Amino acid sequence: MSKKTQKAPEKKPAPRPEPAPKKAVDPRMHPIPLKVEYDDKHTNDFRGDVKEVGFHFAGYEWSSKEQQLLIDLHYDQLYYWKLAELSKMGRGFLDGELWGTQCPRCGDKFFPPRVNCWRLDEELQRTDWVRLEPQGHVHTFTIAGWSGKSSLKRLPFVLAYVVVDGCKTAIANELRGVKPWDPEFKMPVKVVWAPKEERRGVITDFHFEPADGWKPGPMNPEKERIKELCAPVYEWVKTLK
Ligand SMILES: [Zn+2]
Repeated sequence: MSKKTQKAPEKKPAPRPEPAPKKAVDPRMHPIPLKVEYDDKHTNDFRGDVKEVGFHFAGYEWSSKEQQLLIDLHYDQLYYWKLAELSKMGRGFLDGELWGTQCPRCGDKFFPPRVNCWRLDEELQRTDWVRLEPQGHVHTFTIAGWSGKSSLKRLPFVLAYVVVDGCKTAIANELRGVKPWDPEFKMPVKVVWAPKEERRGVITDFHFEPADGWKPGPMNPEKERIKELCAPVYEWVKTLK
């Protein structure tokens, strides 16, 4: 007896769902392109030869088409960091240019750059890129008596928050070319770039130094106190190999 094949009931195709209404793109959002072609790839100098050196900026990838920068970091493991809307800042570091942002509504300038204005009543107003003069003044500073492994031999050194000319925010970076007891509030400083081949598109591509012609004030009790605190640090650094 042959099995009677049962005809499957004809399936009606399910009605196509209505396409979702297109949402207007919020101009305050910052999308990252899904596909980025990095046409300018710089070798990550850690691949194939891993050494323990603590934190290290290892390389970068830049897309001239999409204007996107990606940084390779090494800290025991390899990381990458997409700069997305802040890519122009990192690209500027590579090119020896300082780029910040400015709000078109209130005029406030920011370095480090902000993608949206900080004023609450402006509802995340988007900012525009502006090139900044590589100079500013010290807002505040501290003297490092201890550090990560890669900079121990340079102790003690000065870390300063610097307000780049015209900006409302301050950027932290190293202040070199001064004795640790000599920095002063509001002292004028300039940006000094690392050699081009050593730049990675990151904050360590530059440091600050006193502006040309700046001279430290005379020694005073506070400077003497800091000098005394630094003395054992200098002695300890001498013992490092
Ligand atoms: Zn604003």
